[in-house]
Amino acid sequence: MLMTAADYRESLRAYSPRVFVDGDRVERVADEPRLLPGINAVGITYDYAHDAGHKQLLTAIQGSSGKTVSRMLHINEGSQDLLNKLEAVRLVCKVAGCAQRYLSHDALNAIFQATKRTDQAHETDYNQRFMAYLHEVQIKDLTLGVAMTDAKGDRSRRPGEQSNSDVYVHIKERRPDGIVIGGTKAIVTGAPYMHEFLVMPCRTHQPEDADFAVCCAVPVDAEGVTIIAKPAGRPGEPAAKFSGKYGQSTGVVMFDKVFVPHDRVFLAGETEEGGFMTTSYATHHRHSCIGARAGFGDLLIGAGTMMAKSNGLDADKHGHIRDALVDLITITESFYACGIAASVYCEEDPAGSVMPDTVYSNIGKLLLATKIYDMHKLAHYVSGGMVVALPNPDEDHNPETEASLAAVLVGRQEIPVERRKDILRFIEDLTVSNQAGWYSVISLHGGGSPEAMKREIWRNYPVAEKEDLVTQLLDRGVYNQGQKISKQPGRCCAKGCETPPKSL
Ligand SMILES: Cc1cc2nc3c(=O)[nH]c(=O)nc-3n(C[C@H](O)[C@H](O)[C@H](O)COP(=O)(O)OP(=O)(O)OC[C@H]3O[C@@H](n4cnc5c(N)ncnc54)[C@H](O)[C@@H]3O)c2cc1C
Repeated sequence: MLMTAADYRESLRAYSPRVFVDGDRVERVADEPRLLPGINAVGITYDYAHDAGHKQLLTAIQGSSGKTVSRMLHINEGSQDLLNKLEAVRLVCKVAGCAQRYLSHDALNAIFQATKRTDQAHETDYNQRFMAYLHEVQIKDLTLGVAMTDAKGDRSRRPGEQSNSDVYVHIKERRPDGIVIGGTKAIVTGAPYMHEFLVMPCRTHQPEDADFAVCCAVPVDAEGVTIIAKPAGRPGEPAAKFSGKYGQSTGVVMFDKVFVPHDRVFLAGETEEGGFMTTSYATHHRHSCIGARAGFGDLLIGAGTMMAKSNGLDADKHGHIRDALVDLITITESFYACGIAASVYCEEDPAGSVMPDTVYSNIGKLLLATKIYDMHKLAHYVSGGMVVALPNPDEDHNPETEASLAAVLVGRQEIPVERRKDILRFIEDLTVSNQAGWYSVISLHGGGSPEAMKREIWRNYPVAEKEDLVTQLLDRGVYNQGQKISKQPGRCCAKGCETPPKSL
């Protein structure tokens, strides 16, 4: 059954995870004010699945069961699914900043592909286990955290070469009924308010590191799991018009001898397929990140335009303001266009699902990763210095300053000063505060650092085809100045300027 946001928040009460925030033990995640903005943001994906205007995007029919499920838990069957998912992610992220739950989708799709592939290569039964799990997750309408990025220790060393092997999650023991895992995943979005974690490998592994190639599902409150998290957004800060309501917590998740039964294990030592699982997840996730950050772009374009207006400037009359806003639009829609292209040119996977095109997904993610800083700059450019200089909301009700401040801080007369202050604080929240830094870093590193995208673009782009093209042109003599292009007399060029010899 599809939950509402209220159902989702309520459902968290059935779990008792071991969570710490800012050094405090959190007894009830659902009631913790420091986590509430994160719960609110995920909640949007639940409520929109019931909303008449949005449910077409936020739900899908799961082919293997015929059931209506959340788009955030659906296995893509065609290009239209990818377009809908992209649009859905943009929609929920422009409302909530980052609605987080699309990570569940990205991981489920990667595990679906990888388990099929592993079974074919090793005669295992991972896909059967996974399908049973997938249908259960869809029926319960859960939210799954992605526990992929390991703590990694010394980056120049392989997992097996680390002085402390727990900087990577790995199999500690293999039992007849399951496996025991241990180690640390360093950055898990929404960790405290997920229902379960999907533990996945974060890199390719060599055969001697087989125990590190592990994928399994673990409830957030499984024995041995500890979550050390940061608050979501800026809860309780009066100036945080947006991030006080919506935000994202990240958690370090430690696994201390956690037992995982066989039916929740989807990879246990198959290194080659583990590498495939990581890159497949990366492609799905980078495609989703494009939608997420386009939603952020929507917020900046809207706020930047309103800011200019409230400053008394009309973009139609002031070319430099219009140019800055057009630059913001161009950046946002150019990486979003890569997401559309990746959906349209998707690849069919032998597992029976589709993958967004790897090159376009990676180029879109690389663009947003690097252009996020320009997006902030453009918002600052059109806004002016008051985004950092506006006195804090406490001053709004100071009888000694309120009236005189209000009189001089008004911009365009028709726009009330309160509205101008709201817009300034909104832009400050998204582009100046610690949340602005958060949006930058998640754009740059979330889904992999830029170098990871560049490698994927270089690995997958048909460079050899381009070389062949030029080789063929050179062989035909197109660029070989001084030689004839055509052997036919009188057909040296389109005009035939060279007269054919008379006596042939
Ligand atoms: C807000 C946020 C939310 C996130 N959410 C999740 C989540 O839900 N689940 C999850 O699993 N992950 C999540 N991530 C993690 C994200 O995938 C990683 O940040 C990303 O893969 C980079 O890894 P890292 O942070 O360990 O940085 P590093 O890998 O340490 O990279 C830092 C720099 O070092 C370089 N580098 C690293 N290793 C090498 C090497 N061997 N040789 C040469 N150069 C190297 C990189 O290219 C980069 O420039 C999140 C990240 C952020 C910021």
